[in-house]
Amino acid sequence: MAAPPLSPGSTVGIMGGGQLGRMLAIAAARLGLKTVVLDPDRAAPASQIAARAIVAGYDDPQGLQALAKAADVITFEFENVPAASVQALLDLGAEVAPGARALAVAQDRLDEKTFLNKVGAATVAFAGASSARAAGEAARKLGAPCLMKIRREGYDGKGQAWIEQAAEAGEAYARLGARPVILEAPADFTRELSVIAARSRSGEIAHFPLSENHHEGGILRRSHAPAEVSTGLVQQAEQIVARILSALDYVGVMGVELFELKDGQLLVNEIAPRVHNSGHWTLDGCEVDQFEQHIRAVAGWPLGPTSALAQTEMVNLIGDDVDDWPKLLADPTARLWLYGKQEARPGRKMGHVNRLKPLEPPAAAASGGTRPRPERKPRS
Ligand code: AMP
Repeated sequence: MAAPPLSPGSTVGIMGGGQLGRMLAIAAARLGLKTVVLDPDRAAPASQIAARAIVAGYDDPQGLQALAKAADVITFEFENVPAASVQALLDLGAEVAPGARALAVAQDRLDEKTFLNKVGAATVAFAGASSARAAGEAARKLGAPCLMKIRREGYDGKGQAWIEQAAEAGEAYARLGARPVILEAPADFTRELSVIAARSRSGEIAHFPLSENHHEGGILRRSHAPAEVSTGLVQQAEQIVARILSALDYVGVMGVELFELKDGQLLVNEIAPRVHNSGHWTLDGCEVDQFEQHIRAVAGWPLGPTSALAQTEMVNLIGDDVDDWPKLLADPTARLWLYGKQEARPGRKMGHVNRLKPLEPPAAAASGGTRPRPERKPRS
């Protein structure tokens, strides 16, 4: 039987203490909930906000036990939580959201794309390989150029190599650490979009307006939302995300990265079973933001409304960009979010800024958010 909704004053456990955990903890606090964060780093961004920090490795049995004891529900701010830790939490009787299945699917690029195709969400053509020879065969089958990615643990464009000729595949396989890989056909996309959506315990789904995303060096640099998209495209994205969320019996917020092709078709690049960087614009540009939405969902509360209040451009502050904070504070259109990280290393996300403009009516209509809707039950 489903657990009852949390009461204010209850505790949400968060595995991972990065900026996503930090913004989840802020949202939870606003709603009268406490948070307990498990992270190996004592000074982690989320641990600075949470009511309690458990300083332990993600696979530390004592840490997991303390988390399970302290939290009424446990959630994640990153997808690479060890499967054995999730199982340990479940064995300790903890309520975990989103569930183990969503994490498992998102942890492995080959399983993820196989799952996506199975639920009717289109992706690029792909093939798996676990040896240099198999990588060569996969590259010949798909045709070059193609993109090789390690199946597990790659992020922000790391663990990837473009293969210009099939004969290079074996060497690229070795360069990526001779680990299981997926080879992907190139997506000839016109834009990268994402949809952030949430599903509640009772199966209602709400999606935020689509965001258009720009990457530099494999890292998200800038998003603007609501993206200028047709109603048809929004419906396509909504349908994709609803299929994914329902198939996983998902509870919480998910980010779905999309490629828009010339003919208007959307392909799914990947899913993130958590709040997502391309949804940071919702903090200032939306009725309810993605962090509050996630907390509402995992607490067993109703979802909130997701319409845009402003046209928002989100820019990540990466490495030294953060030194611009006095200038950004002086900009009346800018809302500054800093993550409390001590050291500004190259490539490290230190904060972000949301710049707001009044909403243009057509964009609002074309890609407006939703009132949460009950799950559509398939006709029997
Ligand atoms: P990922 O780590 O899978 O999110 O990939 C990082 C970035 O690489 C994406 O945001 C795209 O810009 C690009 N990319 C990933 N997969 C493909 C693909 N199959 N074809 C073309 N570009 C891709």
